[in-house]
Amino acid sequence: MLRLACPYCGVRDQPEFRFGGQSHITRPPFEASDAEWADYLFVRDNPKGVLYERWLHEYGCGRWFNVARDTVTHEVLAVYRMGEAKPSLDGNIPGQADVTKL
Ligand SMILES: [Zn+2]
Repeated sequence: MLRLACPYCGVRDQPEFRFGGQSHITRPPFEASDAEWADYLFVRDNPKGVLYERWLHEYGCGRWFNVARDTVTHEVLAVYRMGEAKPSLDGNIPGQADVTKL
């Protein structure tokens, strides 16, 4: 079973959470082309490796946060709060002291 460390509550089992899709997706400006809007609405990364995802602690604190997860091994590489920058995964994360490494 996947276990996630909510940045607010700590480690919990996956049934307490709801997957929210890929994170760090930027909404295009109103004037964007149909192709740009289609990319924003329908196209998502599907890497064989690290994927940055959003998760909701639905049966806990009710807050959203980000997870960096390896899609091959399901290893959770980092957990960090919404609004924080995407962490580098080399173990040195300047300015991101509260990123939780699992
Ligand atoms: Zn929580």
